[in-house]
Amino acid sequence: MNDVPEQLFIGGVWRDALDGGTFAVEDPATGAVIGRVADAGPKDARLAEDAAVEAQEEWARTAPRARSEILRRAYELVLSRSDELALLMTSEMGKPLAEARGEVAYAAEFFRWFSEEAVRIDGGFGILPDGRNRMLLMRRPVGPCLLVTPWNFPLAMGARKIGPAIAAGCTMVLKPAPQTPLSSLALAGILREAGLPDGVLNVVTTSRAGEVVEPLLRGGRIRKLSFTGSTQVGRLLLAQCADTVVRTSMELGGNAPFLVFDDADVDAAVEGAMTAKMRNMGEACTAANRFFVHRSVAEEFGRRLAERMGALVVGPGTAQGVDVGPLIDAGGRAKVADLVADAVGRGARVLVGGAAPDGPGHFYPPTVLAEVDPGSRLMETEIFGPVAAILVFDGEDEAVRRANDTPWGLVGYVFTEGLDRALRVSERLEVGMVGVNTGLVSNPAAPFGGVKQSGLGREGGRVGIDEFLEYKYLAVPVR
Ligand code: NAP
Repeated sequence: MNDVPEQLFIGGVWRDALDGGTFAVEDPATGAVIGRVADAGPKDARLAEDAAVEAQEEWARTAPRARSEILRRAYELVLSRSDELALLMTSEMGKPLAEARGEVAYAAEFFRWFSEEAVRIDGGFGILPDGRNRMLLMRRPVGPCLLVTPWNFPLAMGARKIGPAIAAGCTMVLKPAPQTPLSSLALAGILREAGLPDGVLNVVTTSRAGEVVEPLLRGGRIRKLSFTGSTQVGRLLLAQCADTVVRTSMELGGNAPFLVFDDADVDAAVEGAMTAKMRNMGEACTAANRFFVHRSVAEEFGRRLAERMGALVVGPGTAQGVDVGPLIDAGGRAKVADLVADAVGRGARVLVGGAAPDGPGHFYPPTVLAEVDPGSRLMETEIFGPVAAILVFDGEDEAVRRANDTPWGLVGYVFTEGLDRALRVSERLEVGMVGVNTGLVSNPAAPFGGVKQSGLGREGGRVGIDEFLEYKYLAVPVR
């Protein structure tokens, strides 16, 4: 976008950080600086919190239809700027333009979905068992929220939180990831244009996340934290929320198993693997991390997956025909390279890829590893890169047991032509979501989220708005 703001957005006003500080945003394909955004400190964050607190009461009184229409306009504006937003996202995050356009549509859809939910917030009425007391149930906005988002889906992770918060009548302070702040700032501009009142959404970009976030969580005025990011940071923030009993939604890391049974359609499994592994260059919480393939189809699956992965074009996300962009930064690429080296050192066979090219840019080639040792480090950590690790299993019980042998539980993928097996295995997998013969589960109309250390709560779907609402019960005796 030509005129992406690079300042903080507080109380409806674009302004510099109080100390005038800025930090650079880089293009991961080239390392070039593409912008400098305001670097907020704790005092700036306090001002953003003040604005959100001040706007809360009036915003909660706004007619649901008015909130709905703001979201609807935002949906249309986001879509009408699809090309510009996609280019912006590709420039700061690296994903190919076609994928970035897909994310723009996905992000917009959260605004449409929650514009429809805003006018469907219901309550309840009941006669209590004693026959005398009546119960009225109201649903009220939680209050000012802090939203903290990661860099991997710069537009969608913000929209998935902002949409339901607006629908519910909550005000917000959004702290985006420092690698990708421009998409969030562009979104704030669009929401303002869509008619969002001043102070409802405030955006604080910072290179000092800890210093900015902790005082807000401990200050007693923020009533809810909605966080998407790593389990490690999620744990830390949960602890910070404990003292002031801040309500939380935590969308954390994953370690998705991808199960291919002997009765699977191998074409569908390879196609599903391409999506589940390669969406966002593998930098997705939903990325298939561990491929468990039945011994009878393992060789064919591995060979065909390697052919498909090897045919992908790696390059800058803005270039024509590119399928795989760079990873987010040097650290991200080094982590992937280390995990591959560890697996190879333990005997994994490289079917394709496996060696990072020289710079510039943080590129890593699509890689398939077969005969991966279960003790390899990539089995117990998110690879967050274009690397498929294949292990062989013999029986259904074994596959389920190994799939569940992890502290994470976001998503699993099951490929089988048997409906009974699909249902049985889906029930047994310890995850919040299952892709049955598909490598894609994300949909704004479905509840997204995990179990175990993958998080608390759900985003999207009918229940997504619940995360931003409280019940209030009125006891009314009737004589
Ligand atoms: P991250 O390091 O946990 O950071 C996420 C956000 O938290 C960033 O804005 C980050 O800012 C901030 N943060 C980090 N330390 C903080 C602290 N001490 N106090 C307050 N805020 C802090 O995760 P990431 O590398 O950006 O994203 C990748 C992770 O997100 C993966 O684990 C992935 O699985 C997960 N993810 C989960 C979902 C889901 O829906 N379950 C979706 C997408 C991504 P700084 O970078 O400045 O520290």
